[in-house]
Amino acid sequence: MPADPPTIRLPPGLVPADGRFGSGPSKIRDEAVGRLADAAHGYLGTSHRRDGVRSVVRRVRQGLAELFVLPDGYEVLLGNGGTSAFWDAAAFGLIEHRSQHLSFGEFSARFAGITRDAPFLEDPEVIESPLGTHPAAHANPEVDAYALTHNETSTGVMMDLVRPDGAAGLVLVDATSAAGGLRFDPRAVDVYYFAPQKAFGSEGGLWLAACSPAAVERIERLAASGRWQPASLSLAVALENSRLDQTLNTPALTTLFLLADTVEWMLEHGGLEWAATRCDASAELLYGWAEASTFATPFVAKPAERSHVTATIDFEGVDAAAVATALRANGILDTEPYRKLGRNQLRVGLFPAVELDDVAVLTRAIDYIVDAWT
Ligand SMILES: *Cc1c(COP(=O)(O)O)cnc(C)c1O
Repeated sequence: MPADPPTIRLPPGLVPADGRFGSGPSKIRDEAVGRLADAAHGYLGTSHRRDGVRSVVRRVRQGLAELFVLPDGYEVLLGNGGTSAFWDAAAFGLIEHRSQHLSFGEFSARFAGITRDAPFLEDPEVIESPLGTHPAAHANPEVDAYALTHNETSTGVMMDLVRPDGAAGLVLVDATSAAGGLRFDPRAVDVYYFAPQKAFGSEGGLWLAACSPAAVERIERLAASGRWQPASLSLAVALENSRLDQTLNTPALTTLFLLADTVEWMLEHGGLEWAATRCDASAELLYGWAEASTFATPFVAKPAERSHVTATIDFEGVDAAAVATALRANGILDTEPYRKLGRNQLRVGLFPAVELDDVAVLTRAIDYIVDAWT
């Protein structure tokens, strides 16, 4: 008789060494947590205005500039509240009159909703495409900011970042799940913003933004324009504090430490190219397994748009939710799909911290569960 999924016990060889496959919060490397524990007495619970913490912020800002190979004049800003707070801050401090949004999933749609609701902005131009694809941006002379999403975490679609031909406005990129795992050309973007609980294997609650000189100019000009901006969401205030390796109010020191550790781990091994290559290898393995499978297929039709950091795999004839439950019962966590997408699928975080061997074991574990039960 087939086994009930939650009661299926995987043989030891089919349990990954680390079972965290979430799309954010995602796996945090044990070595980083170990170094945090070692540093605890001189760091955790100490003043964020002193060099102990400010030196970590400096390592983060300089490390990210090096990792992204930012051109001269680009600056790394940071503040509290994660990407969601950054969207509000961008509505106040980066968009002058009207933005264009590529809307192709939960997260990209949310930012479009924020600018639509902002009473001081005109209604945005929203370009949509069916879930599992992404639309293309086009220059519009009435628009002063283009909102792109490097990796739409809810659907597992990634896109190449290019400045729309002939566009004069700023290119603002939500890179929350992409930054640190996907390649990009910083000259094609003005603001590359993210939170560190995804590809950077840290905690949430912080936002970071690599800003071009044009973006810095926009931030300073809008702050001086008389438009009211709440201080905690003011990018001009964040700019001033970031230049001093500080935040306006108290940040989570754990988040900063783990982020600095991951950035340096990537730099020591060869930088963004090395980190992205790890994600490429994991994605090739997982999508290859799905294409060869009798019950699984990649959700995203075009191979070039299939995310190398958050892979979505549709199931047919097999209940993906039951598979996720059986995986969870064996310590393999967070393979459930994005809840609002409502598809019979698994979503697997393939961030740089995830080991290729563990992805291989995961595919064998899924096959074992499906065999044991169907
Ligand atoms: C996770 C995520 C967000 C939300 O990030 P928070 O830090 O939780 O606000 C926004 N955009 C994308 C693409 C994401 O993956």
